[in-house]
Amino acid sequence: MTELRERDAMECRACGREERASEGYPCTDCGRFICNMCSMRGVTLCADCAKKVPAKPADGAPQGASTSEAGKAPTPGA
Ligand SMILES: [Zn+2]
Ligand SMILES: [Zn+2]
Repeated sequence: MTELRERDAMECRACGREERASEGYPCTDCGRFICNMCSMRGVTLCADCAKKVPAKPADGAPQGASTSEAGKAPTPGA
């Protein structure tokens, strides 16, 4: 009866669910299993690593440069 979870299920270290190991990805930091569902949501770190690593944008994008319309210069003219 528990054949499926014996064969191909691993506990996702991000959401804690048992998902298919063959469809998951390793944590980019420690290599533990992240399920496909989390991966699709942009999760690349397990819960432990996500805690110790501050949330940062991908590939060296400077922080604060994303959507700061408040800091934008007023439009000239008018
Ligand atoms: Zn997950
Ligand atoms: Zn990890």
